[in-house]
Amino acid sequence: MRKRIIAGNWKMYKKMGEAKAFIAEVKGRLPNTDNVEMVICPPSPYLSELVSESKGTTLSIGAQTMHDVEEGAFTGEVSPSMLEDMNVEYVILGHSERRQYFNETDESVNKKVHAAFAHQLTPIVCVGESLEEREEGKTVERVSSQVEKAFTGISADQAKEAVIAYEPIWAIGTGKTATAEDANEVCKEIREEISRLYDENTAAAIRIQYGGSVKPENIAELLSMDHIDGALVGGASLVADSFLKLVEVAANE
Ligand code: 13P
Repeated sequence: MRKRIIAGNWKMYKKMGEAKAFIAEVKGRLPNTDNVEMVICPPSPYLSELVSESKGTTLSIGAQTMHDVEEGAFTGEVSPSMLEDMNVEYVILGHSERRQYFNETDESVNKKVHAAFAHQLTPIVCVGESLEEREEGKTVERVSSQVEKAFTGISADQAKEAVIAYEPIWAIGTGKTATAEDANEVCKEIREEISRLYDENTAAAIRIQYGGSVKPENIAELLSMDHIDGALVGGASLVADSFLKLVEVAANE
């Protein structure tokens, strides 16, 4: 049985005070359960502070991106060893906004997946098609190729620990959610791709999230699908009450 995982991607939102207030608010109200992993991915300047604020709770902290090398002359970047040093546990890699605005490629995502495992970070590897690709019937081709490239050289044991987030680009921040059936269909194809790349055990173990306009109103239906093990949530993770609602549904339904 795969453990569900709800991760909030805060993107470039909140000031430090708001970030700390959010943790203080959710802290005592998180469901007391082993059924679901709960993660918040704040902007990088708040990582260290939020790791300490959430210590002793079931909430984990993740980064939204990182570089793939230990250190170097890369102005503005955060390294995997820095995240490890701060006790960050997860890292989102290859988000479509990173691919679109910061030239992230399948090759750089692959290097970062290797770096994450070398630094005890669980990668949340994002894949997803554009509206044009969907309309041309190229969704499966696109996401399968992203998965294959992201996992090149990654062992089956490592892949079992990874999380894949299927985020159709046209559903991000638009209020348009893929239907639960459509999302499940693509997540199933992703699992089949993992099975082709590795084996059935690995495919059965890897967690696949859906992301794109997930909110308290649609989470139950998405999670009722066989191949959807959780959600990567933008907007609805910024408000304590709605994040709590998402994790409660994931814990109980
Ligand atoms: P929204 O939930 O705001 O659509 O964002 C999705 C996303 O990009 C999460 O990584």
